[in-house]
Amino acid sequence: VEDAAAIRRVIEIIRREQQRSLLVVVSACSGVTNDLIGAAHAVRDGDEGRALSILGAISDRHRLLAGALLKPVETGETRGAAAKRNEIVSAMDAMFDDLRNVVHGVHLLGELTRRSVDAMTSCGERLSSLILHAAAEAAGFPTVLVDARQVMVTDKNYSSAQPQIEKVALRAKEIMLPLLKQGIVVITQGFIGAAEDASVTTIGRGGSDLSAAIFGSVLGAEEIQIWTDVDGMMTADPRIIPESRPIGLMSFDEASELAYFGAKVLHPRTILPAVRNNIPVRVLNSRRPEFQGTLIVRRVPEELRSQDRQDVIKSIACKRGIVVINVGSSRMLMAHGFLARLFTIFADYEKSVDVVATSEVSVSLTVDSEDSLPEITEELEQIGETRISRNKAIICVVGEGMKHTSGIAARIFGALANARVNIEMVSEGASEINLTLVVDDKDVDRTVRVLHDEFFPAHGAGQNCHPEPGVSS
Ligand code: ASP
Ligand code: MG
Repeated sequence: VEDAAAIRRVIEIIRREQQRSLLVVVSACSGVTNDLIGAAHAVRDGDEGRALSILGAISDRHRLLAGALLKPVETGETRGAAAKRNEIVSAMDAMFDDLRNVVHGVHLLGELTRRSVDAMTSCGERLSSLILHAAAEAAGFPTVLVDARQVMVTDKNYSSAQPQIEKVALRAKEIMLPLLKQGIVVITQGFIGAAEDASVTTIGRGGSDLSAAIFGSVLGAEEIQIWTDVDGMMTADPRIIPESRPIGLMSFDEASELAYFGAKVLHPRTILPAVRNNIPVRVLNSRRPEFQGTLIVRRVPEELRSQDRQDVIKSIACKRGIVVINVGSSRMLMAHGFLARLFTIFADYEKSVDVVATSEVSVSLTVDSEDSLPEITEELEQIGETRISRNKAIICVVGEGMKHTSGIAARIFGALANARVNIEMVSEGASEINLTLVVDDKDVDRTVRVLHDEFFPAHGAGQNCHPEPGVSS
């Protein structure tokens, strides 16, 4: 929902899907959450003036948006429309009054709590949903706006609050379900919720998808659709492989593997509530709504699992900025308890480890940020000789088909040998859903290229892939 054109597209999508019972979960307009955080940080750093000017800009943007969507020609200039316009403008004004009060409160106290941050960031979704609701109405779509704070009950861990699923389920069934059953399109906000004392909370950045998955799960949705601005999950990062193709169908497990690499499209957390409830998730492109996107299901039915060798791999993912940590100790390694001690150090710093490979004399593992690295290294040195190598990248070849096909590893290593790419680490779990390699950062593009050419040759696209998407209108 970045601008008026995008909101009009959303309304078209609602129109298209209207024959089903629809709950629309809306995110903030693009960049607004960041701007609100920017305002919060400005006042925390003592610059109330700057915070207020950021709020002013956000306010202008939303006013313009409302103006564009509710302008007389679209609304037929009925009196009702004019009243609607005034109504949402005053609702927005009231919200900005509150926001300015929060900013001033932070300024007076000289302290920014996560609770105040949530009071501010939650306004992004409240504004966008207000506008979408009014615009839908103006376009002749009666919808009901349900305040997510009435439904998304969370704990009080502000900014990354945990939804209390059982309570959310009760509220959703009480408040949303009756409307949906009457065929009314319900609009609500993603990302935001409220603790039991009614204070507003947010469930973590990018949380709108998670909100949608939770609402969908507790309501027993037929399908959860995530509308983004890409064609779905891709066979590779299009910035590296311009001819990469969207993946038509994949399993939750495959998608979860990829999520770590392309969190922009879909975060793994999003998938969880849907997986548990066996609800298919479809990733769609709001700029090309006619395109079928990627359908993610709990299990790909046997008959759809292609026997075609070309189809065993779904995607080649990569992640740069990886640090490899090697801990060696001829004396202690593989003595019982060694790995436990090693991983406890990472756990103590809440640091997640991504790839692991062990030998009798050393353990290699990867992390994807420098956070707490000096402290962790210091502790690791007490249990073994520790070496850190930076500027590495993870390459992950994902596909459940590996389980049923032999020779995949040979193709991977053969292709890389031909391209003279040096592989630093390898890991393949017994689930055989992915094969993960660590290479030098400078080799990333080349590695992805040769693997993509190997598994997705230009001619003979696999059945799971869509043909080259045409030019969009
Ligand atoms: N608006 C929130 C954010 O930017 C939630 C979302 O977009 O999913 O993090
Ligand atoms: Mg977002």
